[in-house]
Amino acid sequence: MSDIVVVGGGIVGLSIAFRLVRGGADVTVLDGGDEGAWQVAAGMLAPGGESAYEHPALARLLERSAELWPGFARELGVDVGYDDTGTLSLAMTADDIAQAARVWTRQQLPLLRPSELRELEPALSPRVRAGVLAPHERQVDPRKVVAALRESLGSRIVPKRVQSLSDVDARTVVVAAGTGTAALTGLPVRPVKGQVLRLRGEPGLLRHVLDAAVDGREVYIVPRADGEIVVGATQEERTDRLVTAGAVHDLLRSAIELVPALAELELTETTVGHRPGTPDNAPLLGRLDDRVVVAAGHHRNGVLLAPVTADLIAGLLLTGDTDPMLADFSPRRF
Ligand SMILES: Cc1cc2nc3c(=O)[nH]c(=O)nc-3n(C[C@H](O)[C@H](O)[C@H](O)COP(=O)(O)OP(=O)(O)OC[C@H]3O[C@@H](n4cnc5c(N)ncnc54)[C@H](O)[C@@H]3O)c2cc1C
Repeated sequence: MSDIVVVGGGIVGLSIAFRLVRGGADVTVLDGGDEGAWQVAAGMLAPGGESAYEHPALARLLERSAELWPGFARELGVDVGYDDTGTLSLAMTADDIAQAARVWTRQQLPLLRPSELRELEPALSPRVRAGVLAPHERQVDPRKVVAALRESLGSRIVPKRVQSLSDVDARTVVVAAGTGTAALTGLPVRPVKGQVLRLRGEPGLLRHVLDAAVDGREVYIVPRADGEIVVGATQEERTDRLVTAGAVHDLLRSAIELVPALAELELTETTVGHRPGTPDNAPLLGRLDDRVVVAAGHHRNGVLLAPVTADLIAGLLLTGDTDPMLADFSPRRF
C-alpha cells in the first residue's frame, strides 16, 4: 500500500491526489464507485454567491480557488470546458429585482437594461427586466475534469468501498468521500439533494451562464460549447434519489420563461446528486488526528473549491506546513 491513501475518487479526492503525485508523493485513491456529486454538478465557478457574504473566510477561500482555476485547467492538459465568458445574473419581476439587488449592490456591478442584456444574450425573453454581468463567475465541465484527473492518475485509482478507516493500510489517510465522509469519520456531513436537467441543441444558442430569479424561483442555465445545456437545481434536505415530476416541471418552466427557445431542445438527462453539506455550509479541511486528514463538506462549491483544496491538503502533507487559511475550516470545529 502507498504512503498516502485518499478515500474517495470524486472531484476533490482526485484533485488532491493529482497535486500530491505532482509533488512526488506515493498515493493510492480508493473509490467506492457510486456516482459522486460531481457527476451532476453544473460546474459554475461562482465565488460571489450568498454563502460567501455570510462567511468571510469562506469568501476568501472561494476567491483564491477561482483565481487558481485557469492554471489548474491548463495543467490538466486537455479541454475541460473552462470558459471565462462570465455569468449574467437576471431578474424577471419587481420582486425578483428587489431580491437580487442585495447581491448586485454588494458585488458593485453596473445594472444592465433589458436592451443591453439582449444585446449580450439575444435568446433572452423580453420579460427579463434587469440584470448584471459578473465577468468573474465562470464555468468548467466537471465530467471532463474528472475524466482528465482519472486519465492522469491511471492505476493509482483502485475500486474499493472503504468500510472503516482502520482497514486502510497507510501512514496517512485523506478522507475525501463527499457524503460518505460521515459514515467513515462521524463528522456532520449531510446529503443535500439536487435535481438537475440536461438539454441538447445546436451550439451557440447561449453564450453566458445565466443565473436567475423567475417569479421567485431560482434557476441557472449553463451552456457548454458542444450544445449541452445544464438546467438546475433543486436544493432539498432529502437522501432519496428520486427525480420528481414537480422538480422537472418547475426547472423547465423557469428555464423556458427565461429563454423561450429552450422549449425546442431535446431533454437528454434528468439526474439527482447529493451535495455534501455541513452545519455552517463551509468545508472540513485539515487534520482530524495524527493519521487522518479530512477534505469534505464542500456543499454547493466543490467544483470551484477543488484546486485550492488540493493545494492546501497537499501542502499540509508534503511540507507539514499548515496554511493559515486552513484555520477556519478545521474538521474538529464541530
Ligand atoms: C445538483 C448539484 C449541482 C452542483 N453544482 C455545482 C456547481 O455548479 N459548482 C460547484 O462548485 N459545485 C457544485 N456542486 C457541488 C459539487 O458537486 C460537490 O461539492 C463536489 O462534487 C464535492 O466533491 P467530493 O469529491 O467531495 O464529493 P463527490 O463528488 O460526491 O465524490 C465522492 C466520491 O467518494 C466516493 N466514496 C464515498 N464513500 C466512499 C467510501 N466509503 N469508500 C470509498 N469511496 C467512497 C464516492 O464513490 C465518490 O466517487 C453541485 C452539486 C449538486 C448535487
